[in-house]
Amino acid sequence: MRRSFTFLLRPTSKQAAALTQCLEDHRQLYNAALEHRRTAYAKAGVAVRYGDQSGELKHIRADNPGGQGRWSFSSQQATLRRLDKAFAAFFKRVREGRTPGFPRFKGRGWFDTVEWPKDGDGCRWGSQPEHPTATYVRLQGIGNIRVHQHRTVKGRVKTISVKREGSRWYVVLSCEDVPAEPLPATGAVNGIDMGVASLVTTSDGEHVANPRHLAMSADRLAAAQQDLARKKRGSKRRRKAAARVAALHSTVRRQRLDGAHKAALRLVREYDVIVHEALNVAGMTRRATPKPEDDGGYLPNGGSAKSGLNRSIHDAGWGVFLTILSHKAEGAGRELIAVNPANTSRTCSRCGHCAKENRLTQAVFRCTACGHTAHADVNAAKNILRAGLALRDAAEAA
Ligand SMILES: [Zn+2]
Repeated sequence: MRRSFTFLLRPTSKQAAALTQCLEDHRQLYNAALEHRRTAYAKAGVAVRYGDQSGELKHIRADNPGGQGRWSFSSQQATLRRLDKAFAAFFKRVREGRTPGFPRFKGRGWFDTVEWPKDGDGCRWGSQPEHPTATYVRLQGIGNIRVHQHRTVKGRVKTISVKREGSRWYVVLSCEDVPAEPLPATGAVNGIDMGVASLVTTSDGEHVANPRHLAMSADRLAAAQQDLARKKRGSKRRRKAAARVAALHSTVRRQRLDGAHKAALRLVREYDVIVHEALNVAGMTRRATPKPEDDGGYLPNGGSAKSGLNRSIHDAGWGVFLTILSHKAEGAGRELIAVNPANTSRTCSRCGHCAKENRLTQAVFRCTACGHTAHADVNAAKNILRAGLALRDAAEAA
């Protein structure tokens, strides 16, 4: 299996300046390549290919050995490939008859990653093996940078990326052939319902909440985004507001990752089989429908616009959680089953009666047929578990 490892870098101030320059040159390369493609497309309707741009890279490097020529050829190719992907997605949407936005220029602060596609090519993980205690990564044009390696790297390092987050630098290793480490069987199975009040509710009746500070940061982010929207373009205040939004984004991201890791770890430790709702099906809209004004539309007081933003922040959280859960489940040898979430919230987990009226409020479920009363999310989680086990039985019988 594949897995990635992220470590904090501890560059010297000279190295930090070189990293900043490296990122900046890759950003300019990206923008120049984008400009080239835009012009060709606008003037002649021609799509410039990755191969053309990669070929030109040789000349760009030769013309400026102290500039673009300093960095790894392969990392620059990776940046051009990244642009190529953006264009491939753009043309795909055009073919589908949609009106996509043209790939955008990356402003300062909007280009934060450089990738070296192959360990040993312009980069080297563990570049100072003779050093007794510390780990280093060598990057062409920057040198041997000290890594705060807080855990063991497993598998074979394939790609190495450097990422800037605020004033910090990270190295991300993408590893292949990482051995799975199966956990002992527990004999327990579980269904999970993903929600807003609790990130996860289990069919055993446990509520695994998002960290409380995440909800607070999400509120602050929603408010900051609204604040930004009110500022005049190009103004100093707008720049300040934008910086605040960006900082809150990264806080929310970190807190969400942290919460998702903890919740996923707990589930994977306790259960052999975990059943969840498949995302991007009815589940996403199910929660967006209860109140018509809740769809993010603007009310005069702006209140629901904020709840709409807040909701989209939560939506993103479920995807992150499921991704992490699936990685952990794979590594631990656990089984993960996705089921169609249709009707899981309105069906009685005791008698199977399905009606909208069963759901009294967001939190309370009461069956109009048999009188069964339960926490609405626990009831849904039980239905999810049952649907998953039925799928599993059918697969085994086939
Ligand atoms: Zn019932």
